[in-house]
Amino acid sequence: MLPRYDVLVVGAGAAGLMCAIEAGNRGRRVLALDHASKAGKKILASGGGRCNFTNLYAAPDDYQSQNSFFCVSALSRYTPQDFIALVEKHRIPYHEKKLGQLFCNGSAQEIVRMLLDEAEAAGATIRLPCKITSIQCAGRFLAETDLGPVAADSLVVATGGLSIPQMGATGFAYTLARQFGLDVTPTRPALVPLTASGQNLEFCRKLAGVSIPCLASCNGASFAENLLFTHRGVSGPAILQVSSHWQAGAQVHIDLLPGLDCLAHLKAQQAARPKAELRTILSGLLPRRFAEAMCDTSLPNRAMGQLSLKELTAIDHALKDWNIPWDGTEGYRKAEVTLGGVDTACLSSKTMGALKTPGLFFIGEAVDVTGPLGGYNFQWAWASGYCAGQYA
Ligand SMILES: Cc1cc2nc3c(=O)[nH]c(=O)nc-3n(C[C@H](O)[C@H](O)[C@H](O)COP(=O)(O)OP(=O)(O)OC[C@H]3O[C@@H](n4cnc5c(N)ncnc54)[C@H](O)[C@@H]3O)c2cc1C
Repeated sequence: MLPRYDVLVVGAGAAGLMCAIEAGNRGRRVLALDHASKAGKKILASGGGRCNFTNLYAAPDDYQSQNSFFCVSALSRYTPQDFIALVEKHRIPYHEKKLGQLFCNGSAQEIVRMLLDEAEAAGATIRLPCKITSIQCAGRFLAETDLGPVAADSLVVATGGLSIPQMGATGFAYTLARQFGLDVTPTRPALVPLTASGQNLEFCRKLAGVSIPCLASCNGASFAENLLFTHRGVSGPAILQVSSHWQAGAQVHIDLLPGLDCLAHLKAQQAARPKAELRTILSGLLPRRFAEAMCDTSLPNRAMGQLSLKELTAIDHALKDWNIPWDGTEGYRKAEVTLGGVDTACLSSKTMGALKTPGLFFIGEAVDVTGPLGGYNFQWAWASGYCAGQYA
């Protein structure tokens, strides 16, 4: 006879595991399938192996979506404190690194272990690796898998976005959404390094490894974090954050000396050290390799006393609004998340259920709700998984 479940969860990542736990705790017979050989691969890779599992300040305003109100209900019903309570129940030591970002003291494996233990205690079955070849709905959902056919009353799609195909990401959720008549908003890589070309690429390459605290802004969003030069362009938290607001042709404004009145400082140095070269003065403010590269390529490296007010003003401008054209991003291969996804207009914000197909749910990164860097995306995965788990 066809194995029959109440709830079939496709994707045993952050959102899928949370949903399996919650639905299992309601007494539902739950089966979670994943084509990967391990559950929660992205959890394991996250936060440099320590999983930045939530953010103390995660609030709906922090998230990007075509409907900024969609995430309000889920995020207020399952809060960072709820996840912290779970972490504390399992005695997993954690700490706040900065800006409300909570990390395990030990390893991200502890979070995956916690979720798997909770799923087991809730009676949920997890089978992997298991490929799903097709899903149909005829009163209930019928899935063809390489472990045989499965039937379930509810289907929860928790297969994430397109970021990092090497870790098992696929467009499965979007294909399934379209199959059932749901819209999918345009997707693009986010929290991703930016790439340069030509002379700008040469400049970045020379500085690969150099990190500078900065204030990076793009399309009205600003982030005070570090910038990191790479062999392909720029990365680091400031750049990853602005990348979510960047689109081809948009300008990224980078203040390399946030909080400093650079012109006043240059004038004071001119008066105090007229014989010192510009590169020496700038090396006191910025990493030496960067100061030298700027002086070699675009700034007048003369004695301070020989620089005109116009030149000092141009130097101030170059450092307070360093603005070079970026070619693109490193794409889904390197993106931490995918912007866009299953259109929230087709889903209930209370249940995550498809408005037109009873029993069908979409959760986590697959949905058009994307957070910034710092534990926000896991918080969305937990919260949306929790909500679907109450109704699936
Ligand atoms: C390197 C990296 C580091 C990150 N660090 C952080 C961090 O520290 N904090 C934070 O908040 N966010 C972080 N993120 C983002 C976070 O990992 C995701 O937003 C989150 O995992 C999304 O959860 P999800 O359950 O929706 O999707 P996922 O965790 O991606 O899970 C989806 C699951 O579905 C499975 N799947 C996909 N397609 C199929 C298919 N066709 N059939 C069967 N199974 C399928 C996948 O194998 C996967 O197990 C990071 C992301 C990356 C890539």
